[in-house]
Amino acid sequence: MIRQPLLASELQSPVHLSVRPKPGPQKRQPTIQLGNPGRCPSGLTLVIIITEESGSLGGPAGNDPISNRYNEARHAVTVLARHCRCGRCLAAVIHFDTPTSRCIDPTPLTRTGKLRILSGLAVPPDAAGSSYLGPGLAAAEAIAARHPDHEVVLIILTDWELFDTNLPELLARLTTFKGSLFAVGLRNSPPESLAGPMITSLTIRPESPPGSLARAVFAGLTAHRQGKQPAATDPP
Ligand SMILES: [Zn+2]
Repeated sequence: MIRQPLLASELQSPVHLSVRPKPGPQKRQPTIQLGNPGRCPSGLTLVIIITEESGSLGGPAGNDPISNRYNEARHAVTVLARHCRCGRCLAAVIHFDTPTSRCIDPTPLTRTGKLRILSGLAVPPDAAGSSYLGPGLAAAEAIAARHPDHEVVLIILTDWELFDTNLPELLARLTTFKGSLFAVGLRNSPPESLAGPMITSLTIRPESPPGSLARAVFAGLTAHRQGKQPAATDPP
């Protein structure tokens, strides 16, 4: 008797057969599609993330992209670190209350370096939750000045309800920052004066789809990578 080949339906488990996994960033968190990060750039890059702990942003109470902002940011870094082959792509984290125990100096986005970077993407226990951008921006400018041979990308995560008394001056410094700026507005849009060829302005609201903040951070992390392709669900 000739053995008949098994039908596909006979092979299926009681749950379901998983789709053949594609090599890609979404393997471990399939609900957040980040796209293809492409290849490491030939030059040196440094991504600086400035993030705010203000009480107006709320705590990690929900699954919306603002409450979940640190989880989403860590996911973006984790995915990118899987694709860094050069060991020269750097990232840094600065909290508004800098210096804090979770401010991270420029660190390679390698598999090991990422652990240090990820440790910075959480609320520092020693942060007061201030709404002053000035100290963090000054720290970012100092880091950028120490890396004159790097293409610098600055990602700012804040609700832009800033208490700095010299806000016009700070915004002017942002528009002339040496590098690209991803001004991410949490709940509120970034100021309209933040505009220019090197500036990307994004707004994320509580009702934005989960993954919105991960994709915003990922866009900054991949700004200089070659052959990158955004996820199909990326906002225009
Ligand atoms: Zn790299």
